[in-house]
Amino acid sequence: MKPISRRKFLKLCSASALAMGLSQSWALTVVEAFRKAAAGDPPILWIQGSACNGCSGSLLNTAHPGIRELLTEIINLSFHPGFSCEAGNLLTGHLTRTAADHRGKFILVVEGAIPRADDGMFNLAGEDSSGRPVALISLLKDLSEKARTVIAVGSCATFGGVAAARPNPADCAGLETIIGVSKVLNVSGCPPHPDWIVGTLAHLLLFGQPPIDDFGRPKLFYRGLIHDNCPRRQYFDNSIFARRFGDEGCLLELGCKGPLTNGDCPTRLWNEASSWCVGANAPCIGCTDPSFPDLTMPFFKRMPEIKGPGITATADAIGIGLGAATAVGLTAHLAGNYLAGRIGKKKGQEDDI
Ligand code: SF4
Ligand code: SF4
Repeated sequence: MKPISRRKFLKLCSASALAMGLSQSWALTVVEAFRKAAAGDPPILWIQGSACNGCSGSLLNTAHPGIRELLTEIINLSFHPGFSCEAGNLLTGHLTRTAADHRGKFILVVEGAIPRADDGMFNLAGEDSSGRPVALISLLKDLSEKARTVIAVGSCATFGGVAAARPNPADCAGLETIIGVSKVLNVSGCPPHPDWIVGTLAHLLLFGQPPIDDFGRPKLFYRGLIHDNCPRRQYFDNSIFARRFGDEGCLLELGCKGPLTNGDCPTRLWNEASSWCVGANAPCIGCTDPSFPDLTMPFFKRMPEIKGPGITATADAIGIGLGAATAVGLTAHLAGNYLAGRIGKKKGQEDDI
C-alpha cells in the first residue's frame, strides 16, 4: 500500500467527506496507514485528573476504527487507569517505568483538570517508594517533561472546564496553565468527539504535530463555527426563533452558543453520524470553548450579548454587531473573541489546516 499523503488524510478526515458517505474510505485507507505508522509502537500513557470519565467514554464510542481494533491492533495504549487490568502500585510502577524507558518517545494524554490548591493534594496519583502521597500535579510535570507530545483531552484538561467552574475550591486548571501552552495539543469538548481524539492521534503518528488555532486546538476539527454550518441557519437568517423546546426555528433564544463556538459537530455529527446537539433539539452549550462553562451559562438562556440578525446575517456580520455592542457593555470574553477574530471566518482559513 502506498503511503497516504497528508492532503488525502485531511480530505478523508474532514467532516464534509464523512457527510458525503466516505467514512468507508476513512476506514480502509486512513486506518491502514494509521496502523502502519503506529507500528513503531510509541506507547500512549493516558492519565486522569479531576474528571467525570466522559472523555474516556467518548473514546470507547469511536467508530472508524472501532475501539477493539484501535486498542488491540493500532495504538499501544500502555497505561489507562480505567482500561488496564492491573491496579495500585503494579499499575503506577508500569507508568513510571514506561515513561523512563521511552523518554522522548511516548505520547502523554491527560483527561481532567489539575487541582493546584494545597500543593495539589486534592488529587493524588499514588505513592512514592517511601509511601508518601504523590500529587497529580507533580507527576504531570515530571511526565510531560519526558513525553514526546502531550495531548489534553476534554474541556477540563484543556481549559479547566466543569472541574474549574466557580467557586473552584480545589483551584483546578487546564494543563497548559501547569506546563505551558507550547507543549500541549488541546482537544477540547465536553466530551470531545471520538474522531477528534483518534484523528489527532492519527495525524501525530502519520505526519507529526497538526496545525493549531489560537487556543492550541487542531484546526482540522475546530476551525469552523458551529453556527456557520448549522442546518437551522436559514431560520436564524430569517429571524424565526424557537420559543419553547420542540418548536421549529433557530435555538438562539433558547440559549444556543453556536455563534461563539468552534467545532465541526453539524457536519461530522455524533454517535456514528446519527445526530448532534441542535439536531436533537438542544442548543449548543459551547462545550469546546475556553469560556465553558462559567461564561456559557446559563445554558438555556440567550446571552444578551449575541445580536440576532436583521433579516439576513452572516457570521461575519454577527462579529461586526458584537464589535458595535462593546459600546453598550460586552463581556470581556466576547470582546476578546471579537478582537481575536474568532467570530467570523479568517481570510484563507479553509486552506490553512
Ligand atoms: S444560533 Fe444555534 S440553532 Fe441557531 S443557527 Fe446558530 S447554531 Fe444553529
Ligand atoms: S454542538 Fe456545541 S455543545 Fe454540542 S458537542 Fe458540539 S460544541 Fe459541544
